Amino acid sequence: MKESDVKNVPGGGAEVTGGHESLPAPAAVDEDKDGANFPESTAEPAEISDSVLDGKNMWALNCIFCPSKIMPAKVASYHVEERALPKMKQKKALSEGLEVEPLSRWFMVSDVMMFDNIGVSNAVGDIKYLTCADCEMGPVGWTDLSNKKCYIALARVRET
Ligand SMILES: [Zn+2]
Repeated sequence: MKESDVKNVPGGGAEVTGGHESLPAPAAVDEDKDGANFPESTAEPAEISDSVLDGKNMWALNCIFCPSKIMPAKVASYHVEERALPKMKQKKALSEGLEVEPLSRWFMVSDVMMFDNIGVSNAVGDIKYLTCADCEMGPVGWTDLSNKKCYIALARVRET
């Protein structure tokens, strides 16, 4: 006798539970932060609080390359002016092809006599470059021959 197979097909597919309707609403999308708070171009402050006090050099200024003291504290006036200065070299090489860099922060004195030690290069047009009197590295600044004012670059000296 043949067993007639009753195919017992399991009925039905899996029941799909749950609709999609009840899903929570997605969290609010963040506002686009484009263009918020972009800082203004970084203008240099009128004074640098850790170098300038009452408009004068707070510290004595020294050569970066040797112990030579260029000027005592509180004798020079802080001065902002964009000016291209040749990159640092020995004084003897200063008159050769000059690669310059723009500098804008200076300490100004009205006369070269106000320095403790300073070297002066040959005239280049109406200015002379100032160098360390001992190791002759420079320029650390420049002097205007028309009015004798001398400018020392903050970036080229060591404050002590
Ligand atoms: Zn020096």
